[in-house]
Formats: sequence, structure tokens, C-alpha cells
Amino acid sequence: MKTITGESRRYLDVDLTARTYSVFSPRLEDLDDYLGGKGLGLKLFYDRLGGADGSGLAAVDPLGPDNVLAFMMGTFIGTGAPCSARFAGVTKSPLTGIMVSSSCGGPFGMALKTAGWDGLLVSGAAAAPTTLRIDENGVAFEDASSLWGLETGASQDKLVDNPRQGALVIGPAGENEVPYAVIRSGNRYLGRGGMGAVMGAKRLKAVVATGRAFEIKPADPARYERLNAKARRHIGRNSFVLNYRAYGTNYGVNPGVDKGFAPVRNFRDRTDERCRALSGEAMAERYATEHSACAPCAVLCGHKGVYPDGKKRHIPEYETIGLWGGNIMNFDPDIVGVWNDRMGELGLDTISCGATVSWAMEAAEKGLRPSALAFGRVDNIAAALDDIAHRRGEGAELALGSRALARRYGGLEFAAQVKGMEMAAYDPRAGWGQGLNYAVANRGGCHLNAYPIALEALFGYIPQYSRLSKASWVDFFEDFFTAVNSTQTCQFSAFGYLLEPPIAKYTPKPLLKLAMTLMPRVAQAVLDWSCLSGLVAAITGRRITPRGFYLAGRRAHVLERRMNCHMGVTAADDTLPARFLNEAATRHPVESVVPIEPLVKAYYRRKGYGADGVPTARTLRALRIGPPAGRAAVRAEGA
Ligand code: SF4
Repeated sequence: MKTITGESRRYLDVDLTARTYSVFSPRLEDLDDYLGGKGLGLKLFYDRLGGADGSGLAAVDPLGPDNVLAFMMGTFIGTGAPCSARFAGVTKSPLTGIMVSSSCGGPFGMALKTAGWDGLLVSGAAAAPTTLRIDENGVAFEDASSLWGLETGASQDKLVDNPRQGALVIGPAGENEVPYAVIRSGNRYLGRGGMGAVMGAKRLKAVVATGRAFEIKPADPARYERLNAKARRHIGRNSFVLNYRAYGTNYGVNPGVDKGFAPVRNFRDRTDERCRALSGEAMAERYATEHSACAPCAVLCGHKGVYPDGKKRHIPEYETIGLWGGNIMNFDPDIVGVWNDRMGELGLDTISCGATVSWAMEAAEKGLRPSALAFGRVDNIAAALDDIAHRRGEGAELALGSRALARRYGGLEFAAQVKGMEMAAYDPRAGWGQGLNYAVANRGGCHLNAYPIALEALFGYIPQYSRLSKASWVDFFEDFFTAVNSTQTCQFSAFGYLLEPPIAKYTPKPLLKLAMTLMPRVAQAVLDWSCLSGLVAAITGRRITPRGFYLAGRRAHVLERRMNCHMGVTAADDTLPARFLNEAATRHPVESVVPIEPLVKAYYRRKGYGADGVPTARTLRALRIGPPAGRAAVRAEGA
């Protein structure tokens, strides 16, 4: 087998309109500055579509042929490093009209990377349904007319016939350009922001990569082996990881009920004892669960189990459980498993779809918009999902998402979304940092931007109902997680890297809590992620320091904000729906609303944005973010 040392630095550039492709390499300075994955995907998008000064981004129609859909492989993929099945998708979102990125597991990343490609950019639009077949020799364009209309599982079954292959596919939702349609890779999804609709608009049914032509070897094998073993030790003993390993992401359900971040009745309430029936602990027992993870993974958050109807199913993730459980007043975990399967087959984002449905239920209750959907009624949900994916009946409207519906009918104050993207299953009134996170996250109502609810309510390191240190931790973690998502390992492993090295591990928890609350910058200075940045350096052979790793994440995050500003985002968008700012009574003993304005102001200062929310010239200079470099910023192979 041939060998790639760390990264091939070869990317495919496919034009579906012309049915052609070329091969290019990014500049080394861009690899150093943006690492790869999400960060490099953003930079390539910016350079290619930004025009002379970035203003060209506004004109890109997310569903038009100009939009670029980038699939960026991770540094870790193929090396056997912890959680090394991840890759990124980057594009302009049809749901929000701004940039969106998403991280995904499943077999596709490994297949493309070991076919010799570090990434794939797709532009244009095919005249007829098309599948891209990719191997070490390049790209073939294949007619996909017979696949059009098939659901995601059936599409994968038809396209993948040996273990060297991995496929990206869309279902009916993507084909019908539902703005929250997903792309499937195995049993994992590029879930947020409607990337499936972008594929559908390009009439791209699938991308199938055939890998295992290359073996990925680290540039410094001895250092890699040492750090890989250390990383596994740290991840393997982290309490966050151990809870996820035992109960999956639904480990969060019981703390949600106790600490008040569980969404109930379209986020009107934030606790309900009945939600415990959908907890990770309850489902582990009910379904006798076993692991079902992205391979290879050191965390093992994914689970499957046997349902009462005898079928083995993947256990829905926490977000799905939250939004299709208490948030629509359903407390039957079995039926959420069935709906979860249907949404996977149809290609729908369970978060955006769930929050849109709960909005419709409340809008009907308030007499704003008639609907057959109602809190606690479960018999008509399965049909509604099919209708949404096929845009028929009431589903044609529900397919628009909650912001578009609320703009049409009223009820924006209880549409649980930010910048058009529906919020995940954490009520921000239970953690003011989580509220800030939703308000300022680059892709909209995204929980993973900085995930401060973990510090506030899961670990209890910083107080839930306080402004203290929140801007600082949101600022820190969004940069850190952007670096993680540019390396492309799993965010769930990050707390193992951060909290298990000796200083954090052996500092008494009360002292750590005090430092994290009152002196967050000091606490951040002692956090140690040298194992993670060292692994990236050992794999790629590039010189990457812990500080440089962090700054690469910050650079990509600020670049994304600048891109979003070019696409119309202003300070007025950095807020929460009125429900979370005004309605304090939520059946939880603590009454709380999010004091969003001072939080956002403090965050802008930390981030180096002006009062208008735009990154200042000084910030851009310090991070070496200039105007778009154009297509000349990449080296075309053979040119
Ligand atoms: S922790 Fe979960 S999401 Fe992350 S790589 Fe492992 S199985 Fe996949």
C-alpha cells in the first residue's frame, strides 16, 4: 500500500455544471494558519467567493450554483488517533443565509482521506441527478436518476458494496431543498444548517469514496505513539467521557431536569420529572444498550439497543430526545426512537425539525396559526415528518423552519432560534453563559459553539445564574473548539485533553471553581492542551505550538464572523428570543432570565469586536486576516 505522511495536501475541486474537476493544494501558510478541517474550509470559501473585499459573499445564493460545498478531512483521520473519524462540511446555509459548518463521523471521511484526498470542494449544479464516484485516480460522474427519491438508508445500500467505501447521501428532504435537510455518512450526519438542501439544489444525490489506497503515517512516529497513548489515558479517565460512554449524550437528561435546562412545552418550562423516562440511564436499562460509535473512537458516546417491537435501533442523541420528548410533551422514549429513524431516512435535522414542530404547537394554542399538531399528541407526528420532507400539506410550511414561520404568522418571541437556526435542547435561562453562546454563535442557535452549559450545569465549575466569567469562557471555548474542529477530532474528547493533565486534574475542585469564576484568564492560562496540539504536529510534521493551535481556532472563528458580517449579520442579531429575556417563571424553583445585553458587550470586548459587533481592524491585523486572496491562493496541480 502506498503511504501518505500526515496529509496529502491534495484537494479535489468539482464543477457539477461543467462535469469537470481539478486538483489543487492550499498554500502552506494557510495550512499553518487554519490547520485544516473547518478552519481551512472557511478560508477557501472566503478566498474564492469573497470578491475583492469580502462583499461578494452577500451575493452567493445558498441554493444557487455559485455556492461551494466543502468537505474537509481531518488531520487525525486514518492515523488511529482518538476519535479520528471526523470531517467537516462548510457552506453558506439556506436556513440562515450565513456560513455554516458541521462535523461528522461515519465511514466517508476515512474513505476519502485514504483515497489520497484531504478535501473536496463542490460547486455548480448538475443538469440531472448525479453521484460522484471518487477513488485515488480522481472523480467519475455517474447518473443518479434511479436513486432520486430514495431514502438515505436505501441509497447507501445501493451505492456501497464493499468496506473500502464510504458514502455521503441525501434523502427526500435534501432533494426537496428543505432548508434543514442533512447529509448522511453511515449512521452519522452533517446535521445543521441545511447542507442536504445545498446538495439537493446541486442535484448531487451522493458522493461515494473508495479508500484504502493509501496508509496514513505520522511524520514523527515516536512522538505520535507517545502522545496517542497519553491522549487515550487522559480521555479514558475523564468523568464527562465516562458518563457519555456509559449512557451516551442522554446522560444529560437527568441533570437537565435537576438543573433546569431541560426544554419543556416549547421552552416554556425548563423542568419536568417525566423527562427522566428518556434519560440515558433509563434507556440503557430499557433497551439493554451497547456501543455503536464512529470508528475509531476513544469516547464511545453512540449506543444502540433493542426496542419493545424487537427492532435494534440507534438510540437518539440528547438533542433529539429533548426536542421530541418534553419539548412537545411526549414522555415515551420508544416513539422518539421510531421518529429518529424516520428523520434519518428522510434526511431531516432532528433539532430544527423538532423546534419548528414545537413552535407550530404553541402557535396553534395561541390561535396564531391553525395546525393539527398539539402538545402531547403523538399519533400524527410520523405523517408530519414525511410531509415536511416531501413539502406537502402542512409540511410544506413546516419545512421553512421556525423563523420563517414566525415572520409569517407572528410568534417570533417564542420561536427558539437565533439567526434562523433552531436552538438545541438546553434552556439558556439555566446557564447565562449558554445564553450568551446561543446569541453570538457564528452559525446561529448552536450549542456546540462553546458549550458553556457543561461548565455551568454539568460540571458546576462556574455559577449558572451569574454573569461572572461568562464572556471569557464563551470567548475561550469557541476558539478552542474551532481549533478542535479544524484538526477534526471530536469535541467530546476535548474535556479529556483539557481537564486531565496534572494542573487541572490535581487542583482541588473548590480552588479550580474559584479561579474559573473570578480569574478565568488565569484558569485558562493553566489549562494544558499540549497533548492535542502535539499530536497534530506529530502527524503533519508542521510546527504547531499549543498557543499557535489556539490562535488558529481564534483566527478561523473571527474570519467566520467577518464573513457573516459581510452577509448581513449585525449586533442586533446577537440576542435571544424574547421568551428567554422576559419569562422568568418556568416551573423550576429558580426564576431566571438571561441579561443578554451586558453579556454581549463584555463578549465583544473580549473578542476584539466593535460595539457594532464587527471585528475591529486591529483584531483582524493581529490575526493576519486580510481581504480574500482569490483563486490564486491555491496552487493548481499541473499548472
Ligand atoms: S464521541 Fe461520539 S460523536 Fe464523537 S467520535 Fe465518538 S462516537 Fe462519534
